[in-house]
Amino acid sequence: MESTWGSNTGIVELRPDVRDTLGRPLRDLRISVMDRCNFRCPYCMPEDIYDRNFRFLSSRERLSFSEIVRLTRLFARMGACKLRITGGEPLLRAGLADLIGDLSRLEGVEDIALTTNGVLLAQQAAALTAAGLDRVTVSLDAVDEELFRRMSGGRGRLEAVLDGISEARAAGLNPIKINAVIQRGVNDGHVPELVDHFRGTGMILRFIEYMDVGTINNWSETQTVPAAEIVETIHRRWPLRPLEANYHGEVARRYEFVDGQGELGFITSVSQPFCGSCNRARLSSDGRLFTCLFASEGLDLRGPMRDGAPDDALLNLMRGRWSRRADRYSELRSSGRAGAGTDKRVEMYYIGG
Ligand code: SAM
Ligand code: SF4
Ligand code: SF4
Repeated sequence: MESTWGSNTGIVELRPDVRDTLGRPLRDLRISVMDRCNFRCPYCMPEDIYDRNFRFLSSRERLSFSEIVRLTRLFARMGACKLRITGGEPLLRAGLADLIGDLSRLEGVEDIALTTNGVLLAQQAAALTAAGLDRVTVSLDAVDEELFRRMSGGRGRLEAVLDGISEARAAGLNPIKINAVIQRGVNDGHVPELVDHFRGTGMILRFIEYMDVGTINNWSETQTVPAAEIVETIHRRWPLRPLEANYHGEVARRYEFVDGQGELGFITSVSQPFCGSCNRARLSSDGRLFTCLFASEGLDLRGPMRDGAPDDALLNLMRGRWSRRADRYSELRSSGRAGAGTDKRVEMYYIGG
């Protein structure tokens, strides 16, 4: 049956260098495969909101693997070459290795990474790697058992996360990155403990400034610890020196220990925003395209796709959206100009980090 979108011409124009209004290409696609999570980190999914009455997406509402693969193929034609699988908690999505396998075979896809809380990683690391996963980032805000439980909302065991990290290393997903969000008055006093744990292991610990993503966490800037302050704290005990960026647009500012015990990263989204080189698009688990972490609306791709839109029509929608992109929320926040009209920001668990 002919859909309202007409039939697929089979001709999809190859124009990888579609640029947004600020001249930024699309290179990095973050795919949220699951809106649910087995943690309740208070800064992301506080238990009192995400309780048993909260209505998460149904499996029918979520994109199927074949829908994700189809859209990713089109994103790759727009220039996306790096993929990050995220959520919610991506390892809750059954059969994830099959998806990774399909994505890794797409033309133009050069690198596939995963961001996870790590609790289910030990069981899945080997299969994910065999399927084509290149890298993993494990989010871990504390290595103190009690603080870990507080920051995960009382869910999951620290030991399971540490086992997950070990299995990922054994599977060859090196160098593993560990992401720690630092919140003033919560885990800022535990920075040296985290550094001590990961220094000299070959893993890269990265400190993330606590951000005003979404609206449910009642963020205030006083809770953000600027990266410069964390660098200073660490430098006093373990001298550091800055490193050059690995590539243009690298999000983390890199430092190394002067004594050769490895590298640290700092994600300075609040104190030193990096919108100018932001080449990231996000696909939510129900198929919306978001062009900024702080967006309020996403472009629905699932609707047209399920209505029978052919590839070239979908690609036109996606290209049109990217070419109109003008997002630079963090820069505007820094200059005191963010805020107006931003009351309805999308939540982090929904579009992924
Ligand atoms: N559940 C997975 C995990 O935690 O790794 C993947 C999704 S989670 C939303 C991705 C990352 O976002 C995590 O590293 C988390 O710490 C980070 N994150 C969530 N809310 C944040 C906030 N308000 N500021 C900074 N980072 C945040
Ligand atoms: Fe779940 Fe990750 Fe959000 Fe924590 S940060 S609640 S692990 S999605
Ligand atoms: Fe990119 Fe938006 Fe973050 Fe700026 S605020 S770096 S445009 S996601």
